Amino acid sequence: MHLPWLRPVWRNLLADMQAGRLSHAHCICWQPELGSDRLLRQATRLLLCLQPTTKACGSCKSCLLAEAGNHPDFYSLDSVDDKVIGVDTVRDLITSLQNTANQHGAKVAWINHADRLSVTAANALLKTLEEPTVNTYFILSPRRTGLLLPTLRSRMQLHQITPPSAAEAQQWLASQLGRVLSNDEVALIQRYPHAPVSVYNWISEQKFPRDCIAELTAAWFTNAPWPQPGKADWAEWLSASELILQDLIRLKQQLPQARLRSTLLGEPAQRWLEQHNVNSDQLNQWLQSCYGIRRMLSEQSGLNGPLLLEELWSRWH
Ligand SMILES: [Zn+2]
Repeated sequence: MHLPWLRPVWRNLLADMQAGRLSHAHCICWQPELGSDRLLRQATRLLLCLQPTTKACGSCKSCLLAEAGNHPDFYSLDSVDDKVIGVDTVRDLITSLQNTANQHGAKVAWINHADRLSVTAANALLKTLEEPTVNTYFILSPRRTGLLLPTLRSRMQLHQITPPSAAEAQQWLASQLGRVLSNDEVALIQRYPHAPVSVYNWISEQKFPRDCIAELTAAWFTNAPWPQPGKADWAEWLSASELILQDLIRLKQQLPQARLRSTLLGEPAQRWLEQHNVNSDQLNQWLQSCYGIRRMLSEQSGLNGPLLLEELWSRWH
């Protein structure tokens, strides 16, 4: 699959490597919806390859080991079940990295979901990043760079994947599928231009995400049953809640329908506002609660997202 929006990041990495000025620590966000997993894999392979050109050669011993998934100089850490990555795990990694490279090439450590590093773990890592060892590379992939400690962030080269525009995403999707898109597919990619790879997968597997805004609007304003958010999709429900509240505030301010972000908020929402006599302050307060939940869940682990969301919704009906 051809992912043109990854190209600028790849070109930078390659140019730095060829010029011999490659930084020893990189930050590439974990965004599988944009194919970041592929970028991360290719970058790791490139660093490990013993005879790289514009990509990993694919045939040296190092490439073969990496392909088989058991390269002795490749280390990876990840958060399990969104739990914090503790200091001991990071210390073990640092100790392992002090060994001589088994394949006489580079050593690469990849820390996925790096935003889950505990503060002590992040500080331990920081010390290592401040005193880099020769031919050792770190790649950190947090969900968002803003979630990392600023001191840690400042020690790395940040690579930003710029998502395609809605028009570019639509064009890309049609070319991947090799056909003209149906109206539903156009609507889907317009809804998720920042997640073209996900949209492609949904269409290929014929498994589509729930339309959270439509379901939530129906529950809120027309007495349909309230959804039950799960561990995997609570963030989408939270986004839908925020969007609806923002639109309700716009309705309260008597902005024209065309200014609303959701086309689903018509008469029923207007009627609900009148019947319940909800004012803008109240709506703003609810919106702030949504932001509060988002903040809490990004800062603390072990919180129950679905439950927090259901408690929030119970205040609205
Ligand atoms: Zn190779």
